[in-house]
Amino acid sequence: MPTRFVIIGAGAAGMAAATTLRSLDSTAEIVVLTDDSYGYYSRPGLAYYLTGEIPERQLFPFSPHELRDMNITLHQGRALAIDPVAHEIALEAGELLSYDRLLLATGSLAAPAELPGAGLEGVVKLDNLEDARRIIAGAQRARAAVVVGGGITALEIAEGLRHRCRNTHYLLRGERYWSNVLDETESAIVEGRLTAEGIRLHRRTELASIEGRDGHVTAVVTKTGERIECGLVAVAIGVQPRVELARSAGLVVDRGVLVDEYFRTSQREVFAAGDVAQVRDPLTGRTVLDTLWSAALDQGRAAASNMAGSATPYIKPPALNVTRLAGLTTTLIGAVGRGRDADLVAIARGDSETWRGTGALTSAISVEDVSEVNRVRMLVGERTLVGAVVMGDQSLSRPLEELVARQVDVSDIRAALLAPGADISGIIGRFWRQWRQHVASQTG
Ligand SMILES: Cc1cc2nc3c(=O)[nH]c(=O)nc-3n(C[C@H](O)[C@H](O)[C@H](O)COP(=O)(O)OP(=O)(O)OC[C@H]3O[C@@H](n4cnc5c(N)ncnc54)[C@H](O)[C@@H]3O)c2cc1C
Repeated sequence: MPTRFVIIGAGAAGMAAATTLRSLDSTAEIVVLTDDSYGYYSRPGLAYYLTGEIPERQLFPFSPHELRDMNITLHQGRALAIDPVAHEIALEAGELLSYDRLLLATGSLAAPAELPGAGLEGVVKLDNLEDARRIIAGAQRARAAVVVGGGITALEIAEGLRHRCRNTHYLLRGERYWSNVLDETESAIVEGRLTAEGIRLHRRTELASIEGRDGHVTAVVTKTGERIECGLVAVAIGVQPRVELARSAGLVVDRGVLVDEYFRTSQREVFAAGDVAQVRDPLTGRTVLDTLWSAALDQGRAAASNMAGSATPYIKPPALNVTRLAGLTTTLIGAVGRGRDADLVAIARGDSETWRGTGALTSAISVEDVSEVNRVRMLVGERTLVGAVVMGDQSLSRPLEELVARQVDVSDIRAALLAPGADISGIIGRFWRQWRQHVASQTG
């Protein structure tokens, strides 16, 4: 009998797992369940769809016939409960779906705003394509829009709206943008670009309530009593892993579903990967959440090979996010941030808990190189680079990604990097080229 793999979630982790399973097992039955009526598409791509840079069809990496050719069944429906003893999933439509091995790849959802008026029509979030369509439709009717929150999503919504709405206000509860990941200079670069694009930034401004008429948003009121008239309010204050199914099935759940290095949960034959999984970080021994596209793909593939029986432990690489902040390509590598962000009540999308609070980061020294809009920041540990942020010119992002990921010993250049006025980009570029030559000569 062919093995029956069921995957709950047709996102990055779920689809990476499905295609990997197919490449490893040509006879298995593979069923991917999704409660998203649009199936699989790029969630990071929603930002470009909002700004109008790409058409909707470009969000979809697979056509239905490509999935059919791979013999992967995409099943539309919501899972309501899992019975890990009977190996069955109860669907909202009343069906029961049986499995031999199950992957939970249920992702995460925006944390809800908890303030008066949050239920009014015109209060939006950005989790999926349906939300993006709602934002676009709402922006067409609204003369002004207000965005609250932090991280990538709030920024992406603000930028999407300023293309569509005459007045876009971005309210920051704290002092500066994405303060637990970016440093002061990086936040200032992003904020400067937002302002230049015509977005009105309000610092130290917290929402008290949202007002409406006939069930629809008309204004927001801040805690200092300021009233901003608007027809749309977008909230992006962080995301929460979708753990309800796992919790009700008796799986061990912390902030996410706890998995071991094989992506096994506490129940036999049930695995978890992507935003919903809380994965062990070998550098610190802690279990952490990642809300990253690249991590979801990696984890989906690794979980699938273990589901197919390979028993290969997953060594979590340093977190990596290549994204765009206010039009500036930005790569975030390894441990880069500190503390909490006043604009977030939960982890932002495109973030990693490994970026904060590690011992290595506490003792690391930050060095930077700025030229025009380009900026490179590196966190130099005792012997290795523990993290880096590359904004604008990306020529150093690959070298830094490799040096951080491979934990290359940089002791020989540490003093030079830390010297006042050092040309850190030049030093790193030369060091990386030599290191690669050395690696190439070793591997023959
Ligand atoms: C607007 C936006 C911008 C982003 N930008 C970036 C970025 O710049 N860089 C970056 O690295 N990351 C970014 N991310 C985050 C990245 O997209 C996620 O980390 C990644 O999509 C997580 O993949 P996943 O497979 O774990 O979950 P998801 O992609 O969220 O997929 C979850 C799937 O589970 C399904 N599901 C859940 N519960 C059920 C149920 N009970 N029954 C049936 N189906 C269910 C859903 O329908 C969905 O198909 C962004 C995300 C968004 C929304």
